[in-house]
Amino acid sequence: MTPAATAPTDRTALYIDGKWAPASGTASIPVENPATEEVLAHVPAATAADVDRAVAAARAAFGPWAATPAPERAAHLDRLHTALAARADGIARTVAHELGTPLKMATRIQAGLPLAVLRSYVELAARPPAEETIGNSLVVREPVGVVGAITPWNYPLHQVVAKLAPALAAGCTVVLKPSELTPLVAYLLFDAIDEAGLPPGVVNLVTGTGPVVGEAIAAHPDVDMVSFTGSTATGRRISHLAADRIARVALELGGKSANVILDDADLAKAVKVGVGNAFLNSGQTCTAWTRMLVHRSRYDEAVALAGQAAQGYVLGDPFDEATRLGPVVSAAQRERVRGYIARGLDEGARLVAGGLDAALPARGHFVAPTVLADVTPESTVAQEEIFGPVLSVIPFDDDDHAVAIANNSRYGLHGGVWSGDEERALGVARRMRTGAVDVNGGAFNPLAPFGGYKQSGIGRELGVHGLVEFLQTKAIQR
Ligand code: NAD
Repeated sequence: MTPAATAPTDRTALYIDGKWAPASGTASIPVENPATEEVLAHVPAATAADVDRAVAAARAAFGPWAATPAPERAAHLDRLHTALAARADGIARTVAHELGTPLKMATRIQAGLPLAVLRSYVELAARPPAEETIGNSLVVREPVGVVGAITPWNYPLHQVVAKLAPALAAGCTVVLKPSELTPLVAYLLFDAIDEAGLPPGVVNLVTGTGPVVGEAIAAHPDVDMVSFTGSTATGRRISHLAADRIARVALELGGKSANVILDDADLAKAVKVGVGNAFLNSGQTCTAWTRMLVHRSRYDEAVALAGQAAQGYVLGDPFDEATRLGPVVSAAQRERVRGYIARGLDEGARLVAGGLDAALPARGHFVAPTVLADVTPESTVAQEEIFGPVLSVIPFDDDDHAVAIANNSRYGLHGGVWSGDEERALGVARRMRTGAVDVNGGAFNPLAPFGGYKQSGIGRELGVHGLVEFLQTKAIQR
């Protein structure tokens, strides 16, 4: 199958109340292929009036859906899983087209991960958290209500499923606005929702821009909870809008995660895995370990290994098997990332690999995988989220110093620790002010709570913790 044969085409409708329905206006949003810079397809640019219709449908569906027995909701999610799994190849290809993720990686993560997460909620939906008795009180959990879900472009299906699946499992109904940069894969999800026959109004799709559709959802008086993933700046805006009516918010925001490599670590492995983590999805990963902290006694060796590893990342066409790194999502993102590289060098960092003058494919929003050494913890590239393939390497003197540098961030989403002594690594992991830490490359667990400390967010996604976000608690005294 050639890439052209699988390229997505225009989508002209929204999905409201169980039907494909035209938007109220005629405006559309072009979706670009960042590897070719060509327009792939268009989607509707919906309006606040469309959000009103979608929220009304979700409100009408809420009572019956909340009252549906848990095993029946689980059966609906199971049918949705079957319909979505049948589209796995199309999902991977669509994300390769609209985001530029290399196809192999798109198959494994952009399609595989949301399917695994949806599967986990088929099981969790069937056995929701039990009621409790506390003295004379019966404590019950009830769904929050209508959820507005607003999602970004970097894992465009996973971030949707990580909200929609637990919300539905909890008995909530949903209005989704996917990112306007990568809205096409959400259409495959809604094709699957339509095929699976979820009750009308339980899930609704409204495509459009953040300032129009996103704000209309966040400010809507009949949206009980806004679940948002994206930048910290937008999360702040959404919090303000929701605060006016004291609506619940769940925020998954940015990160600037530290990968701490202690003096007794398996250095070759720690650096190789660390570079891979920093460059995953062209560095457009909120959990990316963008700060590599290395004990001074092993620092020069680590910098050399990181430079070599970076040079092994072949940039190119996402559909070419040899490609390990695709483009970044847009021209604006490319300029932003290049601006950070220039700023890092201006502030005294040493270029080890990549940079602004490296050879790049002739077309596409590519950035060379870049390693900066001798980065100071206070500098811009060590403090701000870059969201591109740029790794900063920073030396430290002892474990306390490593923890202090790791925690010197307004963010706290993720991190890593490497040591030959697991107890020592665990001790450092416990002191890191961050929502998750992998010790010695511990594997991603789709059932573990995922979310941020500090300005990385509020609330948790995935597994049972992600389900509880969509429940509220009632005490009934007898
Ligand atoms: P963004 O904040 O620009 O956009 C995210 C979503 O919010 C999009 O759907 C957008 O249309 C919408 N939006 C924009 N302005 C809005 C407004 N005023 N009101 C309501 N909605 C609005 O973020 P992005 O550029 O799409 O994504 C990149 C950012 O997301 C990075 O900072 C990254 O770290 C963060 N992110 C975090 C996580 C996480 O789980 N913590 C996951 C992925 C991405």
